[in-house]
Amino acid sequence: MDIKLQQVSYAYAQGTPFEKRALFDVDFTIPSGTYQAIIGHTGSGKSTILQHFNALLKPTTGEVHIGNRIVAAGKKARDLKAVRQKVGIVFQFPEHQLFEETVLKDIMFGPLNFGVAVQEAELRARKLVNLVGLPAEVLEKSPFDLSGGQMRRVAIAGVLAMEPEVIVLDEPTAGLDPRGQKEIMDMFYELHKKRGLTTILVTHSMEDAARYADNIIIMHEGKNVLSGAPHEIFRDTETLNSFRLEPPRIVRFQQKVEQLMNKPLSKVCLTEEE
Ligand code: ADP
Repeated sequence: MDIKLQQVSYAYAQGTPFEKRALFDVDFTIPSGTYQAIIGHTGSGKSTILQHFNALLKPTTGEVHIGNRIVAAGKKARDLKAVRQKVGIVFQFPEHQLFEETVLKDIMFGPLNFGVAVQEAELRARKLVNLVGLPAEVLEKSPFDLSGGQMRRVAIAGVLAMEPEVIVLDEPTAGLDPRGQKEIMDMFYELHKKRGLTTILVTHSMEDAARYADNIIIMHEGKNVLSGAPHEIFRDTETLNSFRLEPPRIVRFQQKVEQLMNKPLSKVCLTEEE
């Protein structure tokens, strides 16, 4: 399912003395089945865009299309239930939204609310707890008795239990240790590959954008200013710096080597394995 933002502008507190325009004619399409990263300096509009993907915010002007439907246009949203089922958002620190007595109930909460039968919702929860790398025993525990990393996984399972076609990740590894970060990012990548899940990663991490994304969109001062494959985006350090961004460490290292050798290397390496 393609996601298309067409000339989307957004102002917070519109019509009040506190009005703040956050997006200016944002226009892009994320093709179905791709892994898209959205990067940008703090305040560039990433969170505001993210909330348009499932109509938590509606554009002040412009349109948001999910698949072949217009789901939000000019402050109005349509088919909210279907949109919220199709587009799952893993917000920053999603474990803060856990609230049920047991992990099982928490994962089942979304599907039950959307009319999925109890048996089916439970089946999904049992499969997902395994998929996110937790032992089946946690299902009967209180989510609040788990470690922070485990709680994060339960919250992710809760989003996946809705069986979304698009998953939006808002700094999904914030606060985790490096190993936990890689495990979670690899898990999402596998889901994307195996199930063709359209994945949108909103991140500060140039490393993650370089490693996982097919395409990167750069936001700057409320506008999408550049889009391209990671190799293209991270090759041009000067342009990146003009958006107050730096390429991943490995690219910076390579550029130092090039300076010392006084000649360009044949390709831009984006990961240590290359
Ligand atoms: P990012 O996620 O890239 O840090 P945001 O989308 O949060 O950027 O912010 C874009 C702009 O909108 C910033 O100037 C920010 O100060 C402003 N903004 C964000 N949230 C609100 C809000 N609730 N009320 C008013 N202004 C806001």
